[in-house]
Amino acid sequence: MTETNGPRPAPSTQENGAPAVSDRNSLSLGSNGPLLLHDVRLVETLAHFNRERVPERNPHAKGSGAFGVFETTEDVSRYTKAAVFQPGVKTEMLARFSTVAGEQGSPDTWRDVRGFSLKFYTSEGNLDIVGNNTPVFFLRDPMKFPHFIRSQKRLPASGLRDANMQWDFWTLNPESAHQVTYLMGDRGLPLSWRHMNGYGSHTYMWINAEGEKFWVKYHFKTDQGVVNMPGDEAERLAGVDADYHRRDLFDAIERGEHPSWTLHVQVMPYADAKDYRFNPFDLTKVWPHADYPLIKVGRMTLNRNPENFFAQIEQAAFAPSNQVPGTGFSPDKMLLGRVFAYADAQRARIGTNYIQLPVNKPKVAGANSYTFDGNMAFEHSGSAPVYAPNSYGRGYSDETGPVEESWEADGEMVRSAYTLHAADDDFSQAGALVREVFDDAARERLVQTVAGALAGGVVEPVLSRAFQYWKNVDQSVGERIESAYQAIVTK
Ligand code: NDP
Repeated sequence: MTETNGPRPAPSTQENGAPAVSDRNSLSLGSNGPLLLHDVRLVETLAHFNRERVPERNPHAKGSGAFGVFETTEDVSRYTKAAVFQPGVKTEMLARFSTVAGEQGSPDTWRDVRGFSLKFYTSEGNLDIVGNNTPVFFLRDPMKFPHFIRSQKRLPASGLRDANMQWDFWTLNPESAHQVTYLMGDRGLPLSWRHMNGYGSHTYMWINAEGEKFWVKYHFKTDQGVVNMPGDEAERLAGVDADYHRRDLFDAIERGEHPSWTLHVQVMPYADAKDYRFNPFDLTKVWPHADYPLIKVGRMTLNRNPENFFAQIEQAAFAPSNQVPGTGFSPDKMLLGRVFAYADAQRARIGTNYIQLPVNKPKVAGANSYTFDGNMAFEHSGSAPVYAPNSYGRGYSDETGPVEESWEADGEMVRSAYTLHAADDDFSQAGALVREVFDDAARERLVQTVAGALAGGVVEPVLSRAFQYWKNVDQSVGERIESAYQAIVTK
């Protein structure tokens, strides 16, 4: 904000647009007397202030973002007909980055997974890719999601965060091991949002112009390079600048340093899924690069800061239900759960008509959705028929028969884990990360990080289970964590 020394700007108005009388003094009976209820300016100022905040997101409350452009630089039209992914197409977009567990005011540099949410305002409607800075997740069934988030937040009695509760949940749900290993490794503390990769994490479907279907995973690789932050520096910054990552992104864009990410996809032919050695729809697993190499698609560049944080970031509503022709879902159960839950969270948090806000509104001509009325309805269809079909000229859709973005399913209705594929288990990909990707120094940092976390209040029987969890990931790393823990607590 710059100070102005020029002529006094025009005075304010009341909410009804009439001139406001004062933003500085309430109306009172004499200078020292009681205040008067018919001071409309005071009443509207206080009443609106009481309603200034919308509920924060439950997970991913603390974050920020920026606008930009995505350009498809390669030809992937043999895999998808989506307009946004045709060669040379440029699409306006919005990105929001966040932590998961912390509340609105919490430090950006607490160890956590980072949200990596993208909205592409494509010519065929909005496409949202709502992922993280990790290619996997803690769970593979959405029934567990609310329990998971509560275990990472606060105790019901004291309102305190609690390591024992976190590790109790993780160790009782061993499918978390891959993601926990990633989180406790160096990438659990990115230097900034600009220096981390983003992954769509889920498996999605792509469909080409001939109707051929593929399974895809999105990888947004940072062009700034992956750079992480040492643990002691993250702790220091958590104290001195809780908004370190928010500030870094905003300041970089203000300076004209526009961060970019190169989008690659892994593409699996539709028929491979059935017999692939890992269940390709299990969100706790990656597809090893050797099996499905990365294929370059294009680049996203963030070049414009929000003009108003609340209107454009806090009220931005990302939902993986937002797909376009040529993209679709998969049998990934976590994705299918999120397809319902994310849009619904925004209806609850922002309001029934959140999609009408400029930041959420599709930039396509001729939108005609038949959703009707509700709180704060602003966009409307005038006097056009509100039902379909109708005899009065309002078009409607009527697809019947096989659905293009379908997949086969058979069997009875059950409550059950996924069918295991040949190489499926909860620990081997986490073990591969520890043994094959981390070097000696990174392994030692992992040992110290986990031992420190366990020494932060984890008690029996969770503690013994945590040692065993790590021995299942890697026997030697598990033993080293146990020794490092003993060294910390006996110091
Ligand atoms: P590769 O050797 O082909 O890939 C390993 C990948 O690990 C790298 O490409 C890099 O992903 C990522 N990586 C590098 N350093 C770290 C780190 N400190 N923490 C986390 N990830 C890191 O092996 P595979 O594809 O066979 O995968 C082996 C393991 O690597 C997996 O079990 C998984 O834990 C991890 N991984 C795999 C990814 C995949 O999609 N296949 C993606 C990320 C991690 P990137 O290039 O995306 O930065």
